[in-house]
Amino acid sequence: MEDCIFCKIIRGEIPAFKVYEDEAVFAFADINPISQGHTLVIPKRHAENLWEIPEKDLCSVLSAAKRIAGAMKKALNPAGIACLQLNGRGVNQVVMHYHLHLMPRLEGTPELPVTTWELKPGDMDEIKKTAEKISAALP
Ligand code: AMP
Ligand code: ZN
Repeated sequence: MEDCIFCKIIRGEIPAFKVYEDEAVFAFADINPISQGHTLVIPKRHAENLWEIPEKDLCSVLSAAKRIAGAMKKALNPAGIACLQLNGRGVNQVVMHYHLHLMPRLEGTPELPVTTWELKPGDMDEIKKTAEKISAALP
């Protein structure tokens, strides 16, 4: 896509700190890292989000993410790795090219904000109805 910043990174028009590349996937360091080693894994073929990305590309992204997570474990020995992927401006997706965040948390560093939401029991009736509604809408 002409104006997409991540497509420009894939084409080499914008610099990036490459972590991994194969025929379908590119991965590079996030320049506003939430933690040391924060990496973005993206499909080379432009797709905006989880609804648009072809299943084949999604599988390629996840396979690459697994390899990269293994490398992070070896290189950084993190206490854990959070995976996050935003879909739509309503949940603060900023770059409209599908990207999976891999965010390692190193031992002794603060908890990642995206992993610290408070667990509060929901309304079971509402939970049941919504689960059924989603389930009934499956293709
Ligand atoms: P979001 O769309 O909210 O999931 O996040 C977009 C992510 O892309 C942010 O974490 C940014 O720091 C990151 N980002 C934006 N531009 C670049 C760039 N040129 N190189 C690396 N990371 C970027
Ligand atoms: Zn793009």
